[in-house]
Amino acid sequence: MRKKILCMVCKWCEVTTSVLRVKTRIIERDDDLSFLYPILLPSKHYLTECLIREYHLKYCHAGVQILAAKLRLQYWIFSSKRNIRSCVSRCVVCKRFTAKSVDYSTYTAAPLDRVRERGTLR
Ligand SMILES: [Zn+2]
Repeated sequence: MRKKILCMVCKWCEVTTSVLRVKTRIIERDDDLSFLYPILLPSKHYLTECLIREYHLKYCHAGVQILAAKLRLQYWIFSSKRNIRSCVSRCVVCKRFTAKSVDYSTYTAAPLDRVRERGTLR
C-alpha cells in the first residue's frame, strides 16, 4: 500500500517544491493545478490538525462532509474523514450547540429524607 502511494507522487511538483503531491486520475480536466495535484498530508500530524481546525472555523463550524469536500480541493489527507471527525468532535463550540438539553419531566421528587429539616439547619 505504501509503495503504491509513493508511486503516485507527481515528479513535476517534487522538482519545483519540496511538498509532496498526489497525482489524481482527473489530470485531463482543465482545472486548477492544486486540485489536480493535491498536497499530500499525513493523518496524525500537528499541521494537518491545525489545517482542519482552520477550515472548520473558516466555514463557520462546518460538519465532516463539508470540511472533507473543502479540504479535498487542495489537500489529500490520509484517512481524512476520521481526522476531521475527531477534530470536529473536540470543538467546544460545536459540542455546546449540539448538546442535548436535560429533560426535567423525567425527574422524580426528592425523597423525604433529603428534604426534611435537620437540627443543625434550624
Ligand atoms: Zn466547531
